[in-house]
Amino acid sequence: MAATDDDVADDDDDEPVLELDTSVERWRLVCPAGHRGSKLKQRFDHWHCRQCKQRGIDPAYSYVKDQQTGRYLAPDEVEITTRSA
Ligand SMILES: [Zn+2]
Repeated sequence: MAATDDDVADDDDDEPVLELDTSVERWRLVCPAGHRGSKLKQRFDHWHCRQCKQRGIDPAYSYVKDQQTGRYLAPDEVEITTRSA
């Protein structure tokens, strides 16, 4: 494999784009249907929205929206931390 690292969109990158405290994550992340972060679960390769599940909508999303920046983030782009301990 002689390809350079730069122009390949690979999933090997495990550097999180965003670090969020759990208390911040609750209001900052929303699912594509508009539900707040407290109802979102971070899974290995997708987000799971409990409110969508309760409404009979497919609850698995590849991305959720960061309300502060308007960006869409995959689970591996967000590191959720607990600093209050
Ligand atoms: Zn939802």
